[in-house]
Amino acid sequence: MLSSVLDLLIPPRCPLCGRLRSASGAGRGFCPACEATLPRVPAGWVVPLGPVVCAAPFYYEGAAREALHRFKFHGVRAAARPLADAMTVAAGALPPGLWDAVTWVPVSPRRRRERGYDHAFLLARETAARLGLGRPVRTLRKVRHTVSQNTLAGDTAARAENVRGAFAADAAARGRRWLLVDDILTSGATLRACAQALCDAGAGSVFCLTAAKARRLRETRWS
Ligand SMILES: [Zn+2]
Repeated sequence: MLSSVLDLLIPPRCPLCGRLRSASGAGRGFCPACEATLPRVPAGWVVPLGPVVCAAPFYYEGAAREALHRFKFHGVRAAARPLADAMTVAAGALPPGLWDAVTWVPVSPRRRRERGYDHAFLLARETAARLGLGRPVRTLRKVRHTVSQNTLAGDTAARAENVRGAFAADAAARGRRWLLVDDILTSGATLRACAQALCDAGAGSVFCLTAAKARRLRETRWS
């Protein structure tokens, strides 16, 4: 109801190309033209990251890269919804029962201030709601400063060293099977460090879900 009133007052635009969606068009997602150009990971394919596994709906390139840039760096919060729609479909292609709670990779307070919002939290909130898991649970925190992983480019060892031991989880982590949400899977170093922190705090298991993944990472069909 509220969203249809808002649609009349502020006609929704495609969060990727910025074109107005037609008043009769359903939803506030990407427009059909943009949807058609998104580079998609085949349903049910995942990336093994050592002890954890990650699913993602898109490859981090082309239109998906553009959507994430607009979401993270240009204030296009509306992109969280269609990204979470796709993440929910990717998660739904896997067998049920792999997780019972959702959490997310925290950003530093400084980076959050710069952007004005916590982009991984927004993805976690939208995805958790779609998966029927209520609100995401805040349990991870950063315990020391790290430089942005982007500045370390493709240096896998440096990326792992940068985030090793940089996260801790509180008592809420104990006993739960977590779906850990982040925006982009590049080397897996951040997700591994967060999964380790959750397990150190007594998590039952951790499964990762991002909006996009680097294409070069090895994929395997979930079985
Ligand atoms: Zn569009």
